[in-house]
Amino acid sequence: MSDFDYDLFVIGGGSGGVRAARVAAGEAGAKVALAEEDRYGGTCVIRGCVPKKLMVFASGYGDTIEEAAHYGWDVSAGDFNWQSFSGHLNTELDRLEGVYRKLLAGSGVTTYDARARVADPHTVELSTGDTVTAKHILVATGGRPVRPEMKNAHLGIVSDDIFHLPELPKSILIVGGGYIACEFACILNGLGVEVTQYYRGAQILRGFDEEARGLIAEEMSQKGIDIHTGTNIVEMYRTPDAGQDGPAMPIEPRQFGGDEPEDDARGGPIRVKATSGGVQDFDAVLFATGRRSNTDDMGLEEIGVTLGRNGQIEVDAYSQTKVPSIYAIGDVTDRVNLTPVAIREGMAFVETVFNGNPTPVDHTLIPSAVFTQPEFGTVGLTEEAARDQEPIEVYCTSFRPMHTAFAGKPARVLMKLVVSAATRKVLGCHIVAPGAGEMIQMAGVAVKMGATKEDFDRTVAVHPTMSEEIVTMRNPTRTA
Ligand code: NDP
Repeated sequence: MSDFDYDLFVIGGGSGGVRAARVAAGEAGAKVALAEEDRYGGTCVIRGCVPKKLMVFASGYGDTIEEAAHYGWDVSAGDFNWQSFSGHLNTELDRLEGVYRKLLAGSGVTTYDARARVADPHTVELSTGDTVTAKHILVATGGRPVRPEMKNAHLGIVSDDIFHLPELPKSILIVGGGYIACEFACILNGLGVEVTQYYRGAQILRGFDEEARGLIAEEMSQKGIDIHTGTNIVEMYRTPDAGQDGPAMPIEPRQFGGDEPEDDARGGPIRVKATSGGVQDFDAVLFATGRRSNTDDMGLEEIGVTLGRNGQIEVDAYSQTKVPSIYAIGDVTDRVNLTPVAIREGMAFVETVFNGNPTPVDHTLIPSAVFTQPEFGTVGLTEEAARDQEPIEVYCTSFRPMHTAFAGKPARVLMKLVVSAATRKVLGCHIVAPGAGEMIQMAGVAVKMGATKEDFDRTVAVHPTMSEEIVTMRNPTRTA
């Protein structure tokens, strides 16, 4: 008989925490509890991947209808109705949250709708006033978007807020050049919002293959997104209300250099001064400037858990912290911040702690997708990283795909393989194309298995598809 209330207490009901709790209780037979202070499902289900992907689908219909006309359909796009879409979206998110709760209950996990704090290596204090003990504690509290430190930053929204907008803005400035910035630039552009994007570096999507980044930026610009690289916000303030909507709210005209009251959402567009010197008004500003781990006021450092500069929990290969009874998985550890990785980390934790089979998570060759338009699917090394490592051959082709070329569109796609000159192994595969997320999952299997360029070559093409080019590139485009 255990001296503790539970074998495992999980803090955080997102993808990683829920999976670990379910598997520990349902398959390993542990007595498990889980606390979640917000909605079950976490970032991915409630304010990330799932609602984002549904918005990606919504935003693609304008193009589809336009293309349909070239294919002989007598159709034209009407207006996008945000309220109607977000109603359906919220219903779907409620359903999914219910599924998560049911899965936990069905596995015998006790749930607490409360905020949890660690009091000592085996004790958790809940905002309900309860205190519970557990042999092991698993922290899976994820992360949250952060605004840059600047005057009036509260005037800008973050990605969590997008799904709750009462209406879509007519114009938006998106600050940042990462996954979230680029995905929302494409989504909002597709929904008819005038999108301007400021990125402080030389090219968006830093860290990804340069050629792929270049094509995505070109395609985004081609679709009407006004990308300003080497540009950041210097200052912003809310302009006075023009007064056409409802009773005029008397507010002081403000200007650069002034402080906005924290709670004042009245007024007209947000006036932004850029590092380039330009001044422009936007209905909304979205900060997509990175995320921070959720470890504030959790009592972790006090009991010896070490945190990194971004608040992330430092763990070893088995997700164990410096305090042996406390483990952490998912975005709160800021390793590879992707849902399927958090789930893997949760499964490996259960295998290690409850099944007596120490299992580190393999963080190499993780395929992933950026849901820009066109999509970007990628696995393995970029050309730049590979050529720093060893001599390589690059096989690359860029072309206008049949589907949109027929509709008279200039859109291009890119298929690229980075190959080791010595071992012939495919070190990296990068695809920019509609559906690239689906394609890279398949290519990822081959690359993970260590497939060589010759393995790709002896695979017969599926015709006519875009991805057949991945097995028909005969001669290297360049060597390095
Ligand atoms: P990223 O780290 O990808 O991007 C942050 C961006 O903000 C970078 O372009 C960064 O510039 C810029 N930035 C940071 N600080 C400032 C500042 N003070 N002023 C101006 N710009 C700034 O973070 P995201 O929030 O976009 O995404 C977080 C993570 O979530 C991703 O890394 C990914 O793991 C995950 N994610 C995955 C998705 C997917 O799989 N499709 C979708 C969305 C998120 P710089 O490059 O110069 O540092």
